[in-house]
Amino acid sequence: MVQSAPEPPPCPFEKRFPSQLVRDDAFFMALAYNQAIDAWRRDEVPIGCVIERGGEILALAHNTVESTRDPTAHAEMLALTQAAAALGDWRLEDCTLYVTKEPCPMCSGATLMSRLKRVCYAVPDPKMGCLGGATNLNDLARVNHHLELTAGGVLEDECRTLLQAFFRLKRAAPATAPEATPEDAPPPSPRSGG
Ligand SMILES: [Zn+2]
Repeated sequence: MVQSAPEPPPCPFEKRFPSQLVRDDAFFMALAYNQAIDAWRRDEVPIGCVIERGGEILALAHNTVESTRDPTAHAEMLALTQAAAALGDWRLEDCTLYVTKEPCPMCSGATLMSRLKRVCYAVPDPKMGCLGGATNLNDLARVNHHLELTAGGVLEDECRTLLQAFFRLKRAAPATAPEATPEDAPPPSPRSGG
């Protein structure tokens, strides 16, 4: 029998289908949540990110650290790159970034460097969060650019439950799960290395 790579524990959560008519914080966070579900299905820590400007979605991304073996492949970093490419400008003025968990030191720094207008995160992170949780880079006194911040409260319970369930099931899961449906199979990696 061919030993395949370990499969993620089956995701017990459904994607959300928010009304397209009301483009509020809950709408964009729901899309970030759906990205987090996609991350789970690829055995990545379920964190998702969306960037919008004027109601238009510029970027949708989730964490791909495991599949790309890249420690910088956090959802926010990938979304910032996508949004800059979409705008043809690294300055993401007037853009809002939605992410399901508070940005880490790297991503918090990147949100400042990209001159986003606003960051809205669902779950505060008292350990590694650098937009209010553990510390707040947005409060650096000599930095010219400051973000508007919505810290928690938008789909917070849903995003927290998703993260906690992922880690709980990962701890409980055997090394290889017996079944995986084709649509849940991970995408082919660019270089599998062997
Ligand atoms: Zn990060």
